[in-house]
Amino acid sequence: MASYEELRNFLESDTQLITGDIPQEYLTDVLKRLKGTAEAVIKPESVEQVSAILKWTYEHQIPVTPRGAGTNLVGSTVPDHGGIVLDLSGMNRILELDAETMTATVEPGVVLADFQQYVEERGFFYPPDPGEKTATIGGNISTNAGGMRAVKYGVTRDYVMGLEIVLADGKILTVGSKNIKDSSGLSLKNLIIGSEGTLAVITKCILKLIPKPETSLSVVVPFDSLEAGIKSVLAIKNENVNPTAIEFVEQKVIRLGEKFLNLSFPYPEAKAYLILTADGRKEEVYRNLKCIQEVAKKYGALDYLVLTDQEQSQNVWKIRGALVKAVEAVSEQEPVDIVVPVNKTAEFISYVNALEEETGMQFISFGHAGDGNVHLCVVRGNLSEEEWQIKKREHMQKIYKKAYELGGLTSGEHGIGLSKKEFFLKETDETNLELMRAIKRSFDPKQLLNAHISYNK
Ligand SMILES: Cc1cc2nc3c(=O)[nH]c(=O)nc-3n(C[C@H](O)[C@H](O)[C@H](O)COP(=O)(O)OP(=O)(O)OC[C@H]3O[C@@H](n4cnc5c(N)ncnc54)[C@H](O)[C@@H]3O)c2cc1C
Repeated sequence: MASYEELRNFLESDTQLITGDIPQEYLTDVLKRLKGTAEAVIKPESVEQVSAILKWTYEHQIPVTPRGAGTNLVGSTVPDHGGIVLDLSGMNRILELDAETMTATVEPGVVLADFQQYVEERGFFYPPDPGEKTATIGGNISTNAGGMRAVKYGVTRDYVMGLEIVLADGKILTVGSKNIKDSSGLSLKNLIIGSEGTLAVITKCILKLIPKPETSLSVVVPFDSLEAGIKSVLAIKNENVNPTAIEFVEQKVIRLGEKFLNLSFPYPEAKAYLILTADGRKEEVYRNLKCIQEVAKKYGALDYLVLTDQEQSQNVWKIRGALVKAVEAVSEQEPVDIVVPVNKTAEFISYVNALEEETGMQFISFGHAGDGNVHLCVVRGNLSEEEWQIKKREHMQKIYKKAYELGGLTSGEHGIGLSKKEFFLKETDETNLELMRAIKRSFDPKQLLNAHISYNK
């Protein structure tokens, strides 16, 4: 039997290895409901250390759970098979900003907010903008994180040019490059992005940057129903005004957000809101916002508030960013991250609202209206643990079935992890699953990396 103490041979300092009493945060995700066990936590500081550790775990057939900041909402960092947790958050150096190729090279543990600030101070912009800014770049890449600015700029995948990775057996390799174009065989880089740490450990990331937009301005558009607001979204997108973000929120969740942060949101009497942003050159931004206003009016907008006041704008986005935590503060909830084709968003939300009325179970919806990514919270309220588990599952099954009927998918940006596995496996075509299993076997024949996120039924 291997002794975890042997791992000290590959590390420089004693603080890089924890054995015995493992801190609870390493055994779970941000919601802390699912828990695993681990024999050791390792905090590598270099690719050589990651490689040596994985060679050792491969030889001894020990499961490995890579981890960034642990902000995922789906149990993907829960070490359900034991073994070691590989904490990459200490590999957090920004290695290069290459202005000529407009790329930055970073280690995976760099925190998103720090990276965004770093490049913006130098006149560049990194568009991926998921709500949780304390997440790491490695975690963002592994989940193909989306966020608010996906409508205009796309998701994390669109900004990853190359990766250094370590395979389960310790081999180090580079996939992708600084080249803008690449038709050179299968894209291994694209397999790694969004693979939730099941194929390899990311140790270096080459990221695409763009010039920082001159101006960015947001608006709040109140409506008397969520459906009315959502229906205006397609019309806005068809106007060729290129909004950066189009978010939708129901009034009831805004109230929770206000209370949670002790901030106020404009137009308290409205039932639902769209929050939109436009960025680019100043004249273009004002022209586009004017055009959006006309469309919104046609679709029954109650008003149109341009957030020129910096503080008000920040408060609106702070409230939007805190909604998961605001709901969680009043009741246990199950976050859902379903994505449907953008023209089916209104139909999907109407279905969920009808289900709420029919069953009395509370659902709260908000999310990325511009790309069909609906964040639903199925709220526990006063249900006993037993009732909650039964009802949650029953309603989730209905919701996922409806989403797939509409051409949707299990996850738009959070990933599958442990919590969405049942629905993902049920709704995904068997041939697709078999190909995923074959890819997993090629990268990780002993099934050691994040073994809990398997593609097996
Ligand atoms: C309030 C809140 C708002 C959020 N909003 C959004 C949002 O708008 N959009 C969105 O997409 N997500 C959102 N999230 C979810 C979460 O922040 C993202 O999934 C994020 O990408 C996770 O990054 P992390 O560093 O915390 O990764 P972790 O949670 O530590 O890990 C996530 C997955 O990546 C793997 N992983 C991490 N690092 C590596 C590595 N170096 N190599 C290989 N695998 C690795 C892990 O094994 C795991 O499977 C939100 C979460 C919260 C709490």
